[in-house]
Amino acid sequence: MKWKLCIRYGVAAAAFWVGILAGKVAAQELEMTYLGTAGWKMNSGSLTILVDPYISRLKLKGGPLSPEDTRKVYERTDVFVSDTTLIDSLIDKADFILVHHSHFDHLSDVPYIARKTGAKVIGTETTCNILRAYGIPNDQLYTVKGGEDYTFGTFSVRVIPSIHSALNGKHYFNSDTYTDVPDYPLQIADFVEGGSLMFLIRFPQQEVLTMGSMNYVERELEGVHPDVLLAGVNLSRLEIYKYTERLLKTTGYPSIVVPVHWDNYRVPYHFSQEEAIRTKVLPFLEEVRAVAPQTRVIVPRHLELFNIPTFDE
Ligand SMILES: [Zn+2]
Repeated sequence: MKWKLCIRYGVAAAAFWVGILAGKVAAQELEMTYLGTAGWKMNSGSLTILVDPYISRLKLKGGPLSPEDTRKVYERTDVFVSDTTLIDSLIDKADFILVHHSHFDHLSDVPYIARKTGAKVIGTETTCNILRAYGIPNDQLYTVKGGEDYTFGTFSVRVIPSIHSALNGKHYFNSDTYTDVPDYPLQIADFVEGGSLMFLIRFPQQEVLTMGSMNYVERELEGVHPDVLLAGVNLSRLEIYKYTERLLKTTGYPSIVVPVHWDNYRVPYHFSQEEAIRTKVLPFLEEVRAVAPQTRVIVPRHLELFNIPTFDE
């Protein structure tokens, strides 16, 4: 018996070293697909994690719309309706969905995707109660408040307390939460913030720090040094004292920074984002270059997959 184990171990070890010599071992790249807004599809091996998947991109009054967009115009008092055809064309499976906060541009497509895929959802009490209103069962929901550090076997998630973008010239403040299940269906305006989070996702060979807003609590990021930072870069970042400088310094100057939440999410995916790139992304690139010239910035394009290489410990 001992010899059999020994032989088995010997064969496995030999295969391991042959693999190393052939350069084939353990290179598990992370595949990232930008879904617009703060939304992501991340694939690592057979694991699929979605973050804030807002795919419907409704033509919502109150921001820049396109005259070439012939879809229905929505008001905030309209009931939210997901574009299920578009979602079905982009999402076939998901194991987990992480939600930063409950505003419609982060959460409103999650009920449909969670029901369709059976994915587990990690979010605030408000996020989980909204999902209950849409019939998502409790065993799919992990309610968190920030501070949790959960392992799921092939990956782990540290939930980091955060704060929302300083909208409306820093006058935005909303402490509404759903401590019970709200009435179904929800209007767009019913998707209240419900508190804000960040996530440190530890894949086998990459650590990714996610943002859903243009704000953060600096002390909560102390010692959090990811390989990849998904940095919110909408214009409200300019309300924050030394936003980019403090963010990059506190997170240990990550090797890769990917700007998020810069696009105009009121137009469909294939519409031009040149204005947003010019006014938000390019200035952010300059900010990064000034404080972290060695950091590589990847500007994601909608629905285009790119790979994050492996990072050794
Ligand atoms: Zn929001």
